[in-house]
Amino acid sequence: MESISKQVVNCLLCDLAKSRINAVPGNGDIKSKVVFVGEAPGKNEDETGVPFVGSAGKILEKALREAGFDRKEVYITNVVKCRPPNNRIPNEFEIETCTSAHLKVELQVLSPKIVCILGATALKSLLGLGHMTLYRGKIITRPPYRYFVTYHPAATIYNNKLKETFDSDIKRLYSLIKGENKTLNDFA
Ligand code: URA
Repeated sequence: MESISKQVVNCLLCDLAKSRINAVPGNGDIKSKVVFVGEAPGKNEDETGVPFVGSAGKILEKALREAGFDRKEVYITNVVKCRPPNNRIPNEFEIETCTSAHLKVELQVLSPKIVCILGATALKSLLGLGHMTLYRGKIITRPPYRYFVTYHPAATIYNNKLKETFDSDIKRLYSLIKGENKTLNDFA
C-alpha cells in the first residue's frame, strides 16, 4: 500500500498533476472490511494531501461516528487522486487514467468485503451506472467486489432529506458489515 501511495504522490499521468498542490492517496486502515470511494479531492484535500478533510469530510466523519464506525478503522479514497481545477467533475480521460493506475490496484490490495460508493461520479466510474436514485441504498454484486451505493456527502449539505437518507445508509452499511457473513450473503 505504501508503494501505491508513493505512485499516487509522484503521478504525472494526466494534466491534473500540473495544477495540484498535493496528490491525495487513500488513507485509513488497510485491513478495513469497507472502503469508501468519493469523487476527487477538493481545496482542503489538495492543501493537506488527505482525503475528505473539508466540509464533505466532516459530514462523512460525523455519519461514520454516529453509525458506529471510527474513521481510523475504515479506508477512504477517491476515484481521482488530484483536485480538478475549480472542483469540476473529473473528465473521462482523468477517471480512466487514474482508476487504471491507482484505484483498481488499491482495491486489489485492500480486497474489501464491500466498497461504499459515495455519489454519482464514483457510481459511474466504478460500475458504469447513472441514475443515483435508482441504485442508492442497494448492494450491487460485481465480482470480485460488492458495492453499496449512497449519496456523496457534499450533496447533502443543503438538503436535509438527503442528509437523513445518507446518515441512515451509513448506519445500514455498518450493520451489514458488523452482522457480516449472514447479512452480506443474504444481499448477494
Ligand atoms: N470530495 C470528495 O469526493 N473527495 C474528497 O476527498 C473530498 C471531497
